[in-house]
Parts: sequence; C-alpha cells; structure tokens
Amino acid sequence: MSDLLRTDAAELSGLLATKQLSSRELTAACLDQIDRVDPTVRAFLHVDGDRALAAADAVDERRSTGAELGPLAGIPLAMKDIFTMTGAPTTCGSRILEGWVPPYNSTITDKVLDAGIVVLGKTNMDEFAMGSSTENSGFFTTHNPWDTTRIPGGSGGGSAAALASFEAPLALGTDTGGSIRQPASVTGTVGVKPTYGATSRYGVVAMASSLDTPGPCARTVLDAALLHQVIAGWDPRDSTSINAAVPDVVGAAKAAEVKGMRIAVVRELGGEGYQPGVEQRFNEALEVLAGLGAEIVEVSCPSFEYALSAYYLIMPSEVSSNLARFDAMRYGLRIGDDGMNSTEEVMNLTRGAGFGAEAKRRIIIGTYALSSGYYDAYYGSAQKVRTLITRDFDAAFATADVLVSPTTPTTAFKIGERVDDPLAMYKADLCTIPSNLAGNCAMSVPVGLSPADGLPVGLQIMAPALADDRLYRVGAALERALKDRWGGRLLDQLADSPAGAYLGGGER
Ligand code: GLN
Repeated sequence: MSDLLRTDAAELSGLLATKQLSSRELTAACLDQIDRVDPTVRAFLHVDGDRALAAADAVDERRSTGAELGPLAGIPLAMKDIFTMTGAPTTCGSRILEGWVPPYNSTITDKVLDAGIVVLGKTNMDEFAMGSSTENSGFFTTHNPWDTTRIPGGSGGGSAAALASFEAPLALGTDTGGSIRQPASVTGTVGVKPTYGATSRYGVVAMASSLDTPGPCARTVLDAALLHQVIAGWDPRDSTSINAAVPDVVGAAKAAEVKGMRIAVVRELGGEGYQPGVEQRFNEALEVLAGLGAEIVEVSCPSFEYALSAYYLIMPSEVSSNLARFDAMRYGLRIGDDGMNSTEEVMNLTRGAGFGAEAKRRIIIGTYALSSGYYDAYYGSAQKVRTLITRDFDAAFATADVLVSPTTPTTAFKIGERVDDPLAMYKADLCTIPSNLAGNCAMSVPVGLSPADGLPVGLQIMAPALADDRLYRVGAALERALKDRWGGRLLDQLADSPAGAYLGGGER
C-alpha cells in the first residue's frame, strides 16, 4: 500500500495545497485500493470512479487558477447510503429502495460537494440504519478489516470499514442509537455523533427523527473535526436544526489539552457483561488522561439502566411512522402491479417483499406501542424515562466537563453470532443510546487492542449539547498520548500485520 493511502486528511490537505499531490492522483489511489480490497471487505454498495475522478479534476483545475479552496478540497470521502445525492442510487441498505435515484441532494451532500470533497461512492449499512453489524443490509454483509470473519459494527459498518481498509480517508455516517460510534469502536477509527440538530437531517432518509444525527467518521480526531466543520450548521430546511454557531471543533482538536478538566466515569456503563479486555484498555486510557492532568471522578446516572428499553420503544414508534412512506407508489420497488391487484394489495406485496425482518419487527413493535390502548403504558413511559436520562446528564455535567465509558461492551463479534438473537444485538448500543435520547454529543476514539482477541477497543466521550468542542479536545489529547505510547497509530498496526497483508500493507 502506498504511504498516500495511510496519510491523514489533514496532512493530505497540505500536500494538495502546495501542489505536491493532485486530487486526481489521490482519488485514483483510493479507487485502486477499493478495487483491491473491496471484494473482501465489501464496504461499498456503489462506487462511481468516473464521477469521482471528474470531481477531482475539477478541484485540481480550480486550484491551478489560484482559487481559494477549503481545507478538505480534493480529499475523497465514502458516503453512507442514507444521504441522498443526485445521479447515484440511494438504497439506505434496503431492497425497497433498489433502483431509486433521488431528485435532490441532502443539505450535507451539498455542503460536502461545495467544499470540494470528492465522493467515491455510497457505503453499505443495515437496512434503514437498523442494526449493529450490517447483517441487516438487504444486499450483503460488510466485513471488519481487522478480521474478515467479524462484523464491522452497524449500522454504518460500510463507512467504518472503508476507513479501516484505507479505501477512503474520510466518511459520513448517521447515529440514531450508536451507528457512528459503535462501528468506529470495533474498527479502530474515530466517529462522532454531534449535538442533535447541529447537523442537518434534510435529505437524509429518516429512521427515528427525534434521534437521527449525521456526523463525521475519520481515522484521526483532527480529520473528524475538519469534516465536522464542513457539515455542521443551521439549515432552515430542517425544522429541528439549531440556529447556533458551530463550536470551534478544529481549534479544540489542535489544542488537544485536558489539563484541569474533570472527566467523569459513568458507574452504570461498566461491570457485568463488559469484556475484561475492553475494561482493561478503558482503564488504561483513564490513567493516560490522568497523567495528562485531567481529574478523573465517578458519577452515577441511575436512569441509564432504562435507556435501552426506552430507546426500543421510542425508536420503533418513530420508525413505524417514517417507513409508512415506502408504499410502492412513491419510491423504488413495486410488486404485483399487473392490473389484477388493488392498490392496497400492491402496497402489501411490495412492503412484504421489500422490507427485511428487522424493519418489519420494528414497524410492528412501533405500531403496537403507539396503539390507543397501549400508548401511555409504552410510548408515554418511555418518554418519561427519556426526561430522567436528560436529568441524569444535567446533574453529571454540573460536576464534570465530559463523561466517559467504553463505547461498546465487547469487541467485534463474529458474523452470524447474534443474527438470531435481537436482544444480544441491541446490547451493542448500551453505552451509546443515552446521548441520543438526551440529544447531546459524543465521540468514540480508539484506545488499543483487547489483549484477549487483538481487536480494537473504543472509548466514548460524552459532552453537553453544543459543547462538541470538548469531545475533540479530550479525544485529540488521548489520541496523541496513545500514539506516542504505541509509536504510531492503531490502524498502522493493522496495515503492518500479517492479518492486514491483503490490504497491501507490505508494499510500501
Ligand atoms: N444499532 C442501533 C439500532 O439498531 C442504532 C442504529 C443507529 O444508530 N442508526 O437501532
């Protein structure tokens, strides 16, 4: 693998700006890497090399005229297939949207294109972002680059795998209950769920509208910050968008300073059910943070115990409503439209064939939870729990700057291991869901390999709403200290290992 593929976006940005590198060369290298490894990793649902190269040429052309370009101009990106983009299919991982080409761009797609970022293609995901492994994709499962018999996390497993297999230096995800952070954790990459409403949902296929949060995925904290800066900001086309200044996330990532910060470990996010190797790496990272001058304390958030249960009522309730629009009339697939079936029969046939088992399960649970006799008992109670979780966060942030936990209780599990056990699958998001319910922000940053299985472990940092800069400050400080300790980045250990030989790591 060429050194180019291992280079961070921040560094590539400098090489492009000084014309030591063209966007065409960089984009072509990423496309070659996709050709080489994607038959194994299967991160992408759709790659459009010609379009990417044309976009790269356009940036090179603008640069040659001396035009003022943003820091990420000319850098390739892998886009989760939940963002609409004209001229390319958007499936959201579902057969029901197969063949649908959106007539418009999501706001984030526009921002990415306006910044001169080169979109390589659309990445695989669990159907409608429902899952923690990409096994619920209607098309195929993505493989974890660290061990291709294991899951890359989900729902944004495609984006995380594209980063970890050096196919792209940047990627986009969405996080409803953990779909950016959990894939980042199990692939040794960085993933951020910004404050709810800080990144526009306009043109992003809706899963659960009160929770969905688009965010950046990258190999370093600074790269995530650079992408965060591009995609965040108020959008009048999204009614839940926050009209507030984007915190200086890039400045915070560059500062990388935790001296004097109070970092609180959440007592409820650890203990039974957490792999010892995960807890070991987590505790070592706390020592590193303490060594950097942070004060480590403990807080209790007693309502977090009910977060998973509340999420699995609120989320399917919103899913049951959002997925009603896939009615065989407006988008994609249509089955049984032969003049013999009524409209309703065509809808039933199409939804029956087009949705996978998990989507159907959630539509049924959500419809039940919202039905008149049960609304107060289920949906109403879950909303009350949501308020209690927000209060736990408020109390904790009154005494600490950020909260921390493992990102997910275990390292990447085997493909197939949890497919028949939805409850085991749901537990992957035990630690990530509270931040979605409260609407605040959180990041996953790699803290090493579990000694038990040699697989990546992630640490989650949680900060109050609109204090996203704190995530970057802490994440970057930790990343820098660990890089010194390891003598390089975690992903270099993959690229240089025999297990990573298929990535082309040997031929530098
Ligand atoms: N894994 C969680 C779920 O299945 C979260 C998904 C997400 O964040 N999109 O709902």
